[in-house]
Amino acid sequence: MDAEVFRAWIVSAAGVIEANRDHLTQLDAAIGDADHGINLARGFTAVLGALDAAAKPPATPGAILTVTGNTLISKVGGASGPLYGTAFRRAGKALGDAADVDLPALSAALDAALAGVQQLGAAREGDKTMVDALAPATRAFSKAIAEGASPDDALSVLAEAASAGAVATVSMQALKGRASYLGPRSVGHEDPGAVSTALILGALAGAAQAGR
Ligand code: ADP
Ligand code: MG
Repeated sequence: MDAEVFRAWIVSAAGVIEANRDHLTQLDAAIGDADHGINLARGFTAVLGALDAAAKPPATPGAILTVTGNTLISKVGGASGPLYGTAFRRAGKALGDAADVDLPALSAALDAALAGVQQLGAAREGDKTMVDALAPATRAFSKAIAEGASPDDALSVLAEAASAGAVATVSMQALKGRASYLGPRSVGHEDPGAVSTALILGALAGAAQAGR
């Protein structure tokens, strides 16, 4: 997967976040402050601008993810901006200067993203956050690769595990972030950040499958 694939991923992620902006905001209205879709849509619009406006467009997969992360950190407030920004920056750093990324390298980059999110936000699985989509997805992805799945299948496993992880947050009580203020009343709603993570990883799977 080359820089074109990673650029296509970010463009697709921006599109799917925009298309789900109101849905994500409604999810956040139920257990937060009704800004998650607005926050992320604004952030990804800025990312598209940064990728286009750069005097020297980022030429490697790692550089594209680093620009994405830096822009999300500077443009998105709230909890999710720094968390997503860190995730993309860590993934970009893990990819280094490579011009082409294979599945194990992508898997390692997603592991680094998860580690960054957990280092910054201290959420564990079961706390009803984006970690509940990202952690099972990265785990299922590396397992599929280790078991010799085809790239297409491994990428589908990644996206499906993220979606299943997001759905599983419905029955969880939030222990981190704004939703935790609701205590038991946070149960019964899907976590907005887990849903946006599933959308972003779904965009990755689609872009990578199309680009191979
Ligand atoms: P805010 O909560 O500041 O309004 P957003 O609404 O943009 O920010 O994002 C909320 C999402 O951020 C939550 O649904 C959750 O997935 C994620 N989140 C919040 N706190 C944490 C944390 N400590 N670790 C991981 N994810 C978190
Ligand atoms: Mg919010």
